[in-house]
Amino acid sequence: MLTRLFVSARFALPLRRIAILSLLCLAMPAIGHAADEPGWKAGLAKVVITPDTSVWLAGYGGRRAPEGKLHDLYMKAIALEDADGKRVVLITSDFQGVPKIMSDPVFDEVRDRFHLERDQIMFTFSHNHCGPRLGDDLVDYYPVDDEQVALVDAYTEKMVDLTVTLVGEALDDLKPAKLAQGKGTCTFAVNRRNNREADVPEIIASGKPLVGPVDHDVPILTVTRPDGSLAAVLFGYACHPTTLSFTYWCGDYPGFAQIEIEKQHPGAQAMFVNTCGGDQNPLPRRKVELCEKYGHMLAVGVEEALQQPLQSISPKLKTAFSYVDLDYLKSVTREELDAEINGGNELRARWAKRMLAKLDAGETLPTSYPYPVHAWRLGTEMLVIGQGAESVVDYSLRFKKEFGPGTWVMGYADDMISYIPSRRVWEEGGYEGGYSLYEYGRPAYRWAGDVEDRISATVHKLVAEVKE
Ligand SMILES: [Zn+2]
Repeated sequence: MLTRLFVSARFALPLRRIAILSLLCLAMPAIGHAADEPGWKAGLAKVVITPDTSVWLAGYGGRRAPEGKLHDLYMKAIALEDADGKRVVLITSDFQGVPKIMSDPVFDEVRDRFHLERDQIMFTFSHNHCGPRLGDDLVDYYPVDDEQVALVDAYTEKMVDLTVTLVGEALDDLKPAKLAQGKGTCTFAVNRRNNREADVPEIIASGKPLVGPVDHDVPILTVTRPDGSLAAVLFGYACHPTTLSFTYWCGDYPGFAQIEIEKQHPGAQAMFVNTCGGDQNPLPRRKVELCEKYGHMLAVGVEEALQQPLQSISPKLKTAFSYVDLDYLKSVTREELDAEINGGNELRARWAKRMLAKLDAGETLPTSYPYPVHAWRLGTEMLVIGQGAESVVDYSLRFKKEFGPGTWVMGYADDMISYIPSRRVWEEGGYEGGYSLYEYGRPAYRWAGDVEDRISATVHKLVAEVKE
């Protein structure tokens, strides 16, 4: 009825008035881009997290006291608010592994102070092996003494406070922005299960292909202010930050990439997420020059994506979160632990001693672990799947195929836990698929074979909940 009235009235207008109205229409912004129309707001914050005490570097299982730094370590946050005022915060960091005992207090505090529920905040870590140890991440992995335990506990507690402050600063910074996404590529990640590290230089030199699944996509999300300035670029890559194994603080290849992008775009905040690089390594490695080279290659991948036409993201947010219980194949028994105490492996002996103390105290060892899964829909154009721990690349490849263009699969979210094999990797066995759970302090050797099925069912349920 309204349409008919409008059409009749318009036809009734004299020709001269139609011409003036047409000119006015041409001068107005296109529908959907009016300056006063509610859009996205984005807020940014960052903080240096380089330890000023002798907290050891994380990873590799040894005694790794810091000798200095190549560059500072950072934790960064981006807060987004859609046209209806719904908010999310994504944290990225140069940590090797954020344990549940660190992220849970952050989520509780953020709920109390900023009213962000669990589905509205994601705490990612790059898995940087030139970053500091935290809380009970890989708790039995290192030959620690009491002093090291005290230093790590104090640092972890400080980081909980710093993370909550960082989230508050990102929320305080919320102001109008446009979001857009694109994709570049970068090729240095190698499937480390299918290519022997020692063989890689020769394979590359011979021009033969490396084998095994990889994900060389570099997804990007840009934040642009109304004056056209680039405020932030979030980018992802599926690869272990394990180029270096020395004892100087730095962000490994993601650190070098972020520094280069921020140099190229003064005033912009570069942020990195590891997109399911559980079985991917930067090869060859172990030299600072290679680390800088990989950082540069990734920055070039981001730059290439920035040069392409980017897809705008409409200002609408939907979020969902769930834990899914992942079963252990079998909880470790007292007999197995007794055997480990004198089995000749120091790491396993430390683990067995800790587990036996629990049993002696009357505790029952858990038979499963609560695994965190997120789904965030940004507009109709972008889907973020966030999943905990060291997920192998099959998850990223699978979900991108199942949910189509605009899908990001962020691994290393909220909780370090362990490696998370796909069914394929579980059946193959080996380090990421087999008997490595004790390294992470879990009360079992191995996951049950259905972890991919359980995670996938949860991802599909959450994606349906955030359907546009
Ligand atoms: Zn790892």
